[in-house]
Amino acid sequence: MKKEITITCSGGALSPTGANFLVQGFEKTFLVDCGLLQGSKMAEESNWKPFSYDPKQVDVLFVTHAHLDHIGLIPKLIFDGFSGKIVSTHATKDIAKVMLEDTASILANSESGKPFHLEEMYSPKILHKLFSLWKTVDYHEKYQVCKDLSVEAFDAGHVLGSSMFVFEYKQQKFVFTGDLGNSPSPLLKDTEKLPDDIEYMLIESVYGDRNHESKEGRRGILKSVLLQNYHRGGVLMVPIFSLERTQEFLYEFNELIESGEVPTMPVFLDSPLAIKVTQIFKKYTHLLKDTVQKDIMEGDNIFKFPGLKETETAQESKSIVRKPNPKVILAGAGMSTGGRIVHHEKEYLSDKNNTLLITGFQTPSSLGRMIEEGAKTILLGEQTIPVRAHIEAVKGYSGHKDSDGLVQFVSDSSKKLKKVFVAMGEMKSSLFLAQRIKEELGVPSFVPQPGEVIKISLND
Ligand SMILES: [Zn+2]
Repeated sequence: MKKEITITCSGGALSPTGANFLVQGFEKTFLVDCGLLQGSKMAEESNWKPFSYDPKQVDVLFVTHAHLDHIGLIPKLIFDGFSGKIVSTHATKDIAKVMLEDTASILANSESGKPFHLEEMYSPKILHKLFSLWKTVDYHEKYQVCKDLSVEAFDAGHVLGSSMFVFEYKQQKFVFTGDLGNSPSPLLKDTEKLPDDIEYMLIESVYGDRNHESKEGRRGILKSVLLQNYHRGGVLMVPIFSLERTQEFLYEFNELIESGEVPTMPVFLDSPLAIKVTQIFKKYTHLLKDTVQKDIMEGDNIFKFPGLKETETAQESKSIVRKPNPKVILAGAGMSTGGRIVHHEKEYLSDKNNTLLITGFQTPSSLGRMIEEGAKTILLGEQTIPVRAHIEAVKGYSGHKDSDGLVQFVSDSSKKLKKVFVAMGEMKSSLFLAQRIKEELGVPSFVPQPGEVIKISLND
């Protein structure tokens, strides 16, 4: 007998953000991820349309990792009546907590389309309920979803706690990859190998059509930017992403400063969210890669080095300006779209002795992109600021596998693969990856449309 299972791509088809996959056909109905759409005004506005399903009918939500494009709409799910279980790794739950507590304020400041009941939706009461429903699992601890259906989390190597969920029904396996890490990472373990009897896979494709620049030389660029700024007696501003990128930077600063390659200088971690996330990394050091664990065993406090100061309160943040140069300021947001970095940019961008170091992809309409593309002046609030500081960029810090990495990943588990569904990427990325999987690996692959219901057939 055949069992028809449907996966509704409520979000995350032809889009790198807004992951939201509804699975029906088993005794229990479940979701994989419930993320925010980000990146454009239109995308952001569609966050507040009703879900395409009734949240009350969903029994379990599996959360692959704690980026907002995978968790940001869970409060809305609760607000709209979900009262099932939420399941993830321990680290994902801890990070989700600090991320979601921060989301309300980000959304409140957002220009585009906020619902009138936003405050209620992200209220402490909703968040309290949300986390009371949240169960945790370790990697490889089997979780019984319902009769004959179990799930096991594998390390995706993307951010701390990130998981691929491998479901098993009567010895048939299918996997939701979530986002896949750009292994090797400075801190995390490599993406784990999947069992070799996976039959269906739903895979991300953020970089499905591109390969990354080499990671070689990344540390060298960081070192030379730090040294140049030091010798100019300037301020080095680094717009950061709170989860993963910040911790990678701290780890690399730690190495450069403790080895004496770069002189000690004041380094301010000026982001309450990044400070909180870094605390969580300290709690889960057993999830970090072996070489990093070895450093820790040998007594190195990998996120602490001479000169580092965490400035959590607004007052501490404001006092940075009085500290003598040279100095380094790490502050959010990573694309200069808001947060404390904007205050520092106002203060320091007009001085040619200073530097702004761009550390990741900048979306087309962001302030970071304008600066990266060489804008001579920028508008911050009402103020026009001339850009005279040095603008540098360090590449190779992407948290996602590139096109070759994704094809290799599918190839490694292609023995019994019947079909791959390519999602969580822009249209051209998804289509390109699907084509490569078909042509190079001979595995049928398919790119679902937004809202499309895809079917998989299992033996019962
Ligand atoms: Zn992610």
